[in-house]
Amino acid sequence: MQFCDDCGSMMRNEDGVMVCTNCGATQARDEEAAEQFVSTESQTDADVIESDPDANFEGKPTSTDVTCDECGHGEAWYTIKQTASADEPPTRFFKCKECGYRWREYS
Ligand SMILES: [Zn+2]
Ligand SMILES: [Zn+2]
Repeated sequence: MQFCDDCGSMMRNEDGVMVCTNCGATQARDEEAAEQFVSTESQTDADVIESDPDANFEGKPTSTDVTCDECGHGEAWYTIKQTASADEPPTRFFKCKECGYRWREYS
């Protein structure tokens, strides 16, 4: 884990450069953090997917069998991700078409 020198927020790795999730400052990746990232990579898939701000739901299939917790809307885009080992059920990720709220559901 690496923290921003400017504001102290957590930084994330983007193509080998650490970028502050708060203020956008960049730093060279420190080697200790790099090793930890590699060794835990296989266990962090779910977190990476869930927090990915670029996840694009538009154009994905629509489910009308849902209710948004935020606004009560009944339509959401969804994607299905196999986040754990293959013998566990996949996780469905939803994004409300009305307010953009995201959630996930274990089937
Ligand atoms: Zn910062
Ligand atoms: Zn909503």
